[in-house]
Amino acid sequence: MQALAERLDAIVAGGRLDALQPLSFSAQKTVVPDPAGLLGHRVAGVARRGKYLVWSFVDAGGQRLLVHLSQAGRVDVEDPPRTTRPRNGVLRLVMDARPSILVKEFGTERKAAWWVLAEGDDGPLARLGPEATSATFAELVRTGDDRRRVHTILRDQRTVAGMGRGYTDDALHRAGLSPYASLASLTPDQREGLLSAIDAVLGEGLAVERRRRGGLPAKPGDHWVVHGRAGQDCPACAETLARVSYETYEVTYCPRCQTGGRLLADRRLSRLLK
Ligand SMILES: [Zn+2]
Repeated sequence: MQALAERLDAIVAGGRLDALQPLSFSAQKTVVPDPAGLLGHRVAGVARRGKYLVWSFVDAGGQRLLVHLSQAGRVDVEDPPRTTRPRNGVLRLVMDARPSILVKEFGTERKAAWWVLAEGDDGPLARLGPEATSATFAELVRTGDDRRRVHTILRDQRTVAGMGRGYTDDALHRAGLSPYASLASLTPDQREGLLSAIDAVLGEGLAVERRRRGGLPAKPGDHWVVHGRAGQDCPACAETLARVSYETYEVTYCPRCQTGGRLLADRRLSRLLK
């Protein structure tokens, strides 16, 4: 998301927003302020906060546009700009003398969304925790006695913003920590190791994503080291990577590197076997 924000910023910053076309009724989360108020204003920049793209504008009274892609949302850079109504469209931003930016969403879940925020209103950003690379979050990891699993904590956007499932799986693998370990149970060394691992996976992920062109690819995150790779060999020790499945996602881990050889109970699997 960071690399996507940088790429969009390079394309649209300084350009004038000429049209904002809602393409999906359910994705528009705000009607006040009127999105039309952004038209004719130049884009000051596109940044990222958590998993949100934050568009700011010149002389638009501090109003901002937020876009959240969720799991299946994608961004297309339309060059030349198109006028057809796309399948799976969420929102199209038409710029003067620039490519258009099309937000779309694959699959059946309709979770991609956008907001126009008045000055001083943080909307959904108000609920986000500190960024994963911030000093605030490092302090929380070093001193926190949160009894929830680290895996849960890292995926909780209210505790730490911008990690998500892929980076969480990869960071825990890199740190050699069980997905079921609680933060409170970690030694000081393990906590430092976790912080280093988070920095490393986010830094490497950003380097890979910065090499991409255009919008987000159809399959984001194909650079994961262990996430989504259950059944394949652990890149560190060649053990077969295992998984724990939940309703809408799965946790991937290495039984040798992370859990001392133990397989974690996979409730969905055991239900199927009954
Ligand atoms: Zn391993």
